[in-house]
Amino acid sequence: MSLLRVENLTASYGASQALFGVDLTVAEGEVVSLMGRNGMGKTTTVKAVCRMIPSAGRLTFDGRDLHPLPSHAAARLGIGLSPEGRRCFRDLTVAENLAAAARPGPWDIARVTALFPRLGERRAQRAASLSGGEQQMLAIGRALTTNPRLLILDEATEGLAPIVRQEIWSAIATLKSETGMAILIIDKALKELSAVADRAVILERGKTVWTGPMAALTPDLTDRYVGV
Ligand code: ATP
Repeated sequence: MSLLRVENLTASYGASQALFGVDLTVAEGEVVSLMGRNGMGKTTTVKAVCRMIPSAGRLTFDGRDLHPLPSHAAARLGIGLSPEGRRCFRDLTVAENLAAAARPGPWDIARVTALFPRLGERRAQRAASLSGGEQQMLAIGRALTTNPRLLILDEATEGLAPIVRQEIWSAIATLKSETGMAILIIDKALKELSAVADRAVILERGKTVWTGPMAALTPDLTDRYVGV
């Protein structure tokens, strides 16, 4: 059964419509790659799922309608977002950031710092003093300490040095193999996505235009819709 089910999702920013019918599912334990060129609606879809913007259509999580819920209730149901732009509380320490949204479950600070040892080394430092890669790890760590059933990673490797990107991809692979957490990923790194994602969903102008196994994503499709 699908944990997240999105059907014919539409959303607008004021008078400007951004989503015109997004279809997307993520099953328990599945890693899904949400793809499409810039501006095609990936972040908007994620914001609607997390109830940060209004939307219409069908949107359910574990069979429950998400539409009536505010964002904190969606988070409490088990949707954890590492947002684009890795927003952290800059004046709080790493440990305080990780504690801020924590909920009971296996993902406590100790487990997050085992996954990202650099965060353990810097646990008493203010978030503002971290490198971009460390801030990104902190953003993922914050999503994990909410103990989500679905983790959403929006551009988690964007703009980072290759070695840091590699650390993040390896953490994602660990999450997949050791926890079986459902993950929805937006990223531009096709090769790394191919290694970790089970399925891809492609958006074009706010609509789902293709979905299938990651292995079935041909160069034709990526040339046409992903622009790599
Ligand atoms: P990117 O990789 O560039 O973030 P994306 O696929 O995530 O691309 P969205 O950010 O979801 O795309 O944008 C979808 C459409 O909505 C675009 O046309 C964009 O210009 C528009 N849009 C996004 N955010 C806003 C906003 N806050 N106000 C108005 N329009 C917006």
